[in-house]
Amino acid sequence: MKITSVKAYVVNPELGDSPFIKDDWQWTYVVIDTDEGISGWGESSNVPRKGSHISAHGISIVEDALVGKDPSDIEHIWHTIYRNYTYLGSRGFPTTLLSGIDIALWDLKGKVLNLPIYDLLGGKVRENVPLYANGWFDGCLTPEEYADAAKKIIANGHDTIKLDPFLEMIPFHTTYIDGKISKKGENEGYEIVSAVRESVGKNVNILIDAHGNFDVPTAVRLSNKLYEDSDIGWFEEPVPPESFHALENFRNQTFAPVCVGERLFTRWDFQHVLENNLADYIMPDVTWSGGISELRKISNLSELYYIPISPHNAQGAGQILAGAHIGMHVPNFYKLEHCISFIPGYNEFLKEPINFDGNKLVMPKGPGLGIDLDMEKLIYKLHEDWK
Ligand SMILES: [Mg+2]
Repeated sequence: MKITSVKAYVVNPELGDSPFIKDDWQWTYVVIDTDEGISGWGESSNVPRKGSHISAHGISIVEDALVGKDPSDIEHIWHTIYRNYTYLGSRGFPTTLLSGIDIALWDLKGKVLNLPIYDLLGGKVRENVPLYANGWFDGCLTPEEYADAAKKIIANGHDTIKLDPFLEMIPFHTTYIDGKISKKGENEGYEIVSAVRESVGKNVNILIDAHGNFDVPTAVRLSNKLYEDSDIGWFEEPVPPESFHALENFRNQTFAPVCVGERLFTRWDFQHVLENNLADYIMPDVTWSGGISELRKISNLSELYYIPISPHNAQGAGQILAGAHIGMHVPNFYKLEHCISFIPGYNEFLKEPINFDGNKLVMPKGPGLGIDLDMEKLIYKLHEDWK
């Protein structure tokens, strides 16, 4: 079997009214065709600021290196693409391209062998995939609105919920200048989390995403106050991802459990976090850190340290399905992130909807990723700059 084409599709998904989402969020799906008529699909989305267009252009260029190769040699293809782009920094852009290709190759292999990906990895260790809820607060602005929304999502069967209560920092991820927050913004965040805790009771896990928005003293102050007052389950990305020294400095001063990793890439980035005891949870992203092949290696590495993985998941259907296969197979798995407001967006490009059952994802029965892309819908909703 030979690869005949590798195509990227940038689409406009159906997204909710989340504070994360702005007009320039798209998803990039990757489709690999072969000379035997079997195709595999994956995802290389990258948001925000049209990151998905950047990765799609990259995949169009990488296609030349893949046409004619045997798609069953996933590991060899992974290393070829990775080493081809070492001078682009190895981690980040090259691994985002690799991720969609790698996921598509695993989907293809599953279809050829008529097995789900988790079976190819060595079989399942659980019957379904535990989830935690993000994106349950669309449109919420006040502590009361957050408290009401939290109550509803718990009533739907969730027991672990995540939010970033520091609304002053919107748009999240991209606004770091001095790492500070105003006293008013800080107090608003405390009030939101406190209202949510009161609303959901003491047996629900509340995870806080700081989106790497803070300097060390600010992150220490916020995390300790939230841990002390509201018993938060983790404080995620306390500082920007570039400085492990800053992360260690934070780690030595906080009482809150720490989660990092959505902006770390490959086993080499996570090795430092694990060896230096910088986190209680790691959260690699299957569409950024190198696909299913790499996520499995990162998971196995973290198992050596008895640190759970909890994959970052804030993009499309390929991401959640690929992460779910890892969740079925990997023993040291906490929960897969799940953005409630993205469910229509996941399903609009699939031939059948993903089966969410409260705080679980029930794995589809089909081979490969388990559900196929609906190419007609994909082409219908291509982004206007990608037609
Ligand atoms: Mg995050």
